[in-house]
Parts: sequence; C-alpha cells; structure tokens
Amino acid sequence: MIAKVIIDIANTNVDRLYSYCIPDGMPISPGQRVLVPFGRGNKPTEGFVILLTEDADVGIELKSVIRPLENYTVLLDEQLALASWISRAYRCTKADALRIMIPAKLRGARVKEKTVRTIRLDPNADVDAFMTTLCKKDGTPKAPKQVEVLDLVKNCGLELTRADINSIIPGAASALNALVKKSILIETDRETYRDPFLGRKIKRTAPFELLDDQRAALDKINSAPSGSVLLLHGVTGSGKTEVYMQAISSALSIGGGAIVLVPEISLTPQTTDRFRGRFGDTVAVLHSHLSDGERFDEWRRIRFSRARVVVGARSAVFAPIEGLKLIIIDEEHEPSYQSEITPKYSAVEVAKRRAAITGARLLLGSATPSLTSYYRAKRKQYTLLEMPNRINGVPMPRVDVVDMRTEFLAGNNSIFSKALSDAVTSCVERGEQAILFLNRRGYSSHAECRACGFVFTCRNCDVALTYHKYDNTLRCHYCGEVLPMPRLCPECGSEFIKYMGIGTQQVEEQLKGILPNVKTLRMDTDTTSGKNAHRDLLDAFTRGEADVLIGTQMVAKGLDIPNVTLVGVVFADSTLFHSDYRSSERTFQLLTQVAGRAGRAEKEGRVIIQTNAPEHRAIALCTKHDYIGFYNIEIGDRMHTLFPPFSFFVRSMFVSRSESAASKSAERFAETVSERLLAALSPIGAEKELLLIMNGAAPIKRRDGEYRYAVIIKLLRSVHSSMALDIIFSAADEIDSECYRGTEVNPQDML
Ligand code: ADP
Ligand code: ZN
Ligand code: ZN
Repeated sequence: MIAKVIIDIANTNVDRLYSYCIPDGMPISPGQRVLVPFGRGNKPTEGFVILLTEDADVGIELKSVIRPLENYTVLLDEQLALASWISRAYRCTKADALRIMIPAKLRGARVKEKTVRTIRLDPNADVDAFMTTLCKKDGTPKAPKQVEVLDLVKNCGLELTRADINSIIPGAASALNALVKKSILIETDRETYRDPFLGRKIKRTAPFELLDDQRAALDKINSAPSGSVLLLHGVTGSGKTEVYMQAISSALSIGGGAIVLVPEISLTPQTTDRFRGRFGDTVAVLHSHLSDGERFDEWRRIRFSRARVVVGARSAVFAPIEGLKLIIIDEEHEPSYQSEITPKYSAVEVAKRRAAITGARLLLGSATPSLTSYYRAKRKQYTLLEMPNRINGVPMPRVDVVDMRTEFLAGNNSIFSKALSDAVTSCVERGEQAILFLNRRGYSSHAECRACGFVFTCRNCDVALTYHKYDNTLRCHYCGEVLPMPRLCPECGSEFIKYMGIGTQQVEEQLKGILPNVKTLRMDTDTTSGKNAHRDLLDAFTRGEADVLIGTQMVAKGLDIPNVTLVGVVFADSTLFHSDYRSSERTFQLLTQVAGRAGRAEKEGRVIIQTNAPEHRAIALCTKHDYIGFYNIEIGDRMHTLFPPFSFFVRSMFVSRSESAASKSAERFAETVSERLLAALSPIGAEKELLLIMNGAAPIKRRDGEYRYAVIIKLLRSVHSSMALDIIFSAADEIDSECYRGTEVNPQDML
C-alpha cells in the first residue's frame, strides 16, 4: 500500500501529494498524521495522509512512512474534502488548509493527553491468598497498613489515585509502594480531559413550549432539504436561541451532531451556559481563551463523540464532529466570521460548503441579517424564516435621537447632551443600570462639521471621504478621488470641521463630572486583554457592582441584564461615515444590537442615540426598529451604485519601506490585470463588467515605517465572475515582487 501525503510545510513549492510506502502491518488510514522522511536529508517531517492507493509510480523508489503520529485519524473524510475546497477557494496551500482543522499544538506534539496515575488490583492476582501472607497464623495482620490499603482498593471497585487513598488512610504511601512492588496493585496512567468549565455545574433547563412563530420556524428547519441554507430573521428577544436549541435537540434525537457559531465577543459564560443548561456535558466549547491543553481536550471530546454539540467562535466551523446534521451561525452578519489571517476564509462560506458536503442544514440567524444574506433569501436561494415579535409581548425599547448639532450651537460642548445626562442621572438614582456605548472602529476618520453636520462625501461613490493627515487631503478608497481639505465648512462657513475621536476614558471623566459618585466600569481593548477580563467585567456589572458600563463594540453583543434600562449611544456617526460602502449597514446593525440591550425584562427600556445625522436612514429607521425598511432602501442604493452584492471587490496589497517600490509594483500589477481582464472580457462583450481598477496609496498609507499601496478591482457579479477571479489570482501567483502581500476578495475593511 502507498500513502499519498501532504507535507506539513506551508510552502507552494511542496504543495502537492508525495508517495510513501506503508511498512507491512503499520495501521495507516486517510486523515491520519504521519512522520515521513522528507527532502534531501530525509529529515523526519510531519504530514497528513490524504489517500491510500495500490498503484506505485513506475520506476521511482519510494521512501517509507516512519510511523503514525497518533493512533487515530485526526481528520474525517469530510474535513479532507473541505480542506481541499478551502485551498482552492482561498488560494492557500493544502498544508494551510489542513492545519486549521486541528489544534495548533498537536503539530510538533506540543500538547499531550493529560493523565492521572491510578491504582487498581492486578486482575490476575489471587488477593485472598495474598492477604493470608500478610497475616500471622492467628489472623492478626503483620502489616496492618498494607491490609487496610488492600481492603480499600478491593472493596471500592473504582480506580483511585494515590491522593484519594492517602486522604482515606493517612500515611499510606509506604504500604502502597510495597503493594505495588509486590505486583498485587498496579499503577497505570489513565487519560482525563481538562475541564474548561472548572467543574462549574449548571442547572438543567427544559425546553419552552414554542410560540407560533418559533414553531413555524422550527418546522421549516426540520423539514428543510439536507445541505440547504435557512435565514432566521428575528428581532432581539424574539426567541431565536430557543429555536436553535430545539433544532439541536431534533438533530441529536436522530443521532446527529451540531455546531453553533457565535461571535467570539459574545461567547460569554451566559451564552455557553444556556447550551450547557439544556444539553449538559455533551456540549464542547471552543474559543480563543482556552489553554492549549483545554482546546486539545475539547477537540478530542468532539473527535471521539463524547461531545455532540459544539459551541464556538469562527474556527469551530472545522470541529471534527461526525454525523453533522446542523450548523447554526448566530449573528451571521458579524464581520468577525471573516478570518484575517491565512487562509482568509469566511466561516459562513465554509459552513455552507460543509453543509453541502455532509448534507447538514445551515441555519443563519440575526436580528439584522447582512444585506447579502437577506438579498439571497429574498431571491429564494435561502429559506427565509421571520420572527418579528419579542417573546411575551415585551415591547421594543423606545429609541430617542438627540441632534448634537443643536446641542453644539446652544453652547454645549460636552460629550453628553442634556437628554443623555438627565437620563443617566435618573437611571442611576432609581438604582438601575446604564450602558454607554462608544462607536469606534479603525483609525480612519471622515471630516464633518460640528456646527451643521455636513459630511464630505465622494461624488462618484456615495461614501464618506477619508481625512488623510499626512497630506491634509480627503480621499475616496473606492475610486481614488482626492480633494484638499478645506479650512471652512462649505455649507455653513464654520471652522469646526475636523472629526475628533472620543475615547472611553474621556466619557468616564465627563460622566464623573455630572455624577461625582457614580460607579463605572470600562470595557475596551485596554481593559479586556487578560484571559478572563471580559468575563470578569461582565460578571461584576451583572452583579450590580457598577451603575454604568462604558464600552466600545464589546458591550453591544449578547448582554442580557434585566436591570439595564438605559442605553446611551455616545456618538453614532463614527461608523456611519466610516468611508466604507458597508458603513450604513454596519451602523444600523450595531445600533439595533445595542438598543436590544435595554429593557429586556419587566422594566421598560430606553435608548438615546446622539448623532449629527438624525435624518440618516441607518439612524432614523433604527429608532423604528425597521430592518426591512432599511434593507429596501439600502439594497436599492447598492444596485444603483453597483456595490456588493451586485459587484465584488478584489484588493491586492503591496508594502515596502521604499515608497516607489510599493507604488511601482502596484502599478505594474494593475496594468497586467487590466490587460488580461479586458482581453478575456472584451471578445464576449463583457468589458463593462470591469467596473473599476485603480492603484494607489492605501487609506493608512504608512504603518510600522512601511508604505502601503493597493490595487483595487471592482467587478460586476455575473456568470463571468469566477473566470475573472481566476485571471486575477493567476496574475497574482506570477507576481515577482518582494512587496506583494496577498489578494483578497471583499476585504472586511479597506484600510
Ligand atoms: P433572541 O435569541 O432572539 O434574542 P432569546 O432566545 O434569548 O431571544 O429569548 C428571549 C427570552 O425569551 C429568553 O429569556 C428566553 O428564555 C425566553 N423565551 C424564549 N422562547 C420562549 C418561549 N417559547 N416561551 C417563553 N419564554 C421564551
Ligand atoms: Zn457646517
Ligand atoms: Zn469614490
């Protein structure tokens, strides 16, 4: 037998199958990892067995597999198929695609099974006969401790550790040693699993009687064709999670397994406890805060079917669960499902593929689906499930908008409008809690007039222009338009036209100016870097240890605290004019999400949004909780400007300490690609599908002392799209430039 092996080296030069003989009697199957001699020096190297074959390549003397690395297959057949698709779809090496399927530390054997030494009787020993040798003729023990220990082990019937025995029989150590030496007791290593829940027990919950909308959704999920995609659009608090859990129950009841993806940031104990409360120990959790050992053990619990429900962040989409029947992606619109490191996969796309391979169903859920997903559902590519009402008639919170321009003109220069400062004060006085949310993202900033709210936008693209400090210009990332930054507002003549970023610290300081004794907690990337910092902060806030939680994006997700009755959005516009075509969409999603944190229980909730653009659709329609209204306007706009889902962007990056090297490489690549695309598209009359190709400085032109240039290509989505992509990527493969840093389709941000 011959094993075809991918060597675990992520280099395109070795990115192919190598043949190795399997020595007689060595048990090897596809999906196993092996050690093989590789390269000129026959260096022992790790590899993945992809398939077995009988046919030898003629005339070539093959090397042999040295040994299997594990005595089980680490990859299921479906994962091999998935990896092969990933390397094609995301243009990465097969080794890269295979690596993401296994715990990183498995490679190089940097993580081990955890074992405990346990004591048990030798099953072949005649214990009674041995016992008599321990006693004198008259039956009194010669070695009383040994008799005591032996009695305990014999009658207990369990495997005990040395510590167990010592705690029952103090000072048993030497007796134990003697018995082990005489081989009446044997000491062995038994594998255990590390427990990421630290033994915390969770109260089991029973399923709710479903409401009509939930029942209808569940029925459609359970009767959907295998491999199909469903989109569950349900407002915050409409009972989506309950539907997820009952759909998982259905999958489990037919012997299947399920994967639930949630955004990393909302993978809080609150979330995982809900699933553990319903399904107990069959739930495994995968997220980035696990130790290597814990991750390895959770992965093995899944691999050996001890866990049948996986709750995890993005990469849990690769969990080695056999008999997968259901994949759920909660908050499917979240940008964090897109990987930012190689391979730059989208967990939603991978899940779709995995569903197609295994016949599982894919359920996407959100209160604010991504425009693209909702568009596909409308076009019947996905099955659309709607849950428009909150459970038990809990009303949606009241959302008020404060126009900060008016505040500014009335002489209020602070971060807090009068309305917000009054609302926080009375909320705290009532003994209730508030969340202050700061919408802040990236470094890019738009230019805006504080007096009249005027925003500089691109004439061609209808997105905000980005202020570039280094040359004091306003630029568009999509078409390259450049304007000098004016000194005065063209609308009202005011000179207050630079956007100023606000930090959580500033908000905290100004809040203390209003309420000197207020207890606050800050949650941002500074305060949540530690292992459990995020959880600890949330726990503290949930326990009522602070009146006000101030935070960035992190506070928006998944929080369900009954005592929170006020949510203040300090400044809504910083993502709104975040010069990205998705900025309206993201703002609408984010504001809806934060608003959903208020008044989830009996007490009525209130939301205050501070903005300079109250009339903007992302804000105006958020106050009405009108996703569909927002979708209709936004999708019309996208169609009009030919932005995704009607088109797609491809971006290649060129980075160098030498500005001219980076810019020349980008320029050369743009020329090559443009020629080749036109040569392919023109003969079939499709040259207009190349909507735009430009090269120039990236919005963040210099980072870490290096210059960054980008080639951006915008293409109409059509039957020719995959051909166009092939052309672009094969041109990228041929790039002979040290500056080249990769090519991405629809990158999550254009910075
Ligand atoms: P979502 O995930 O859509 O935000 P949840 O699933 O968290 O909504 O549901 C909101 C609240 O309603 C939760 O406290 C949940 O336990 C409760 N709930 C869900 N379904 C039902 C039901 N059928 N009957 C009663 N309460 C329910
Ligand atoms: Zn103005
Ligand atoms: Zn433009």
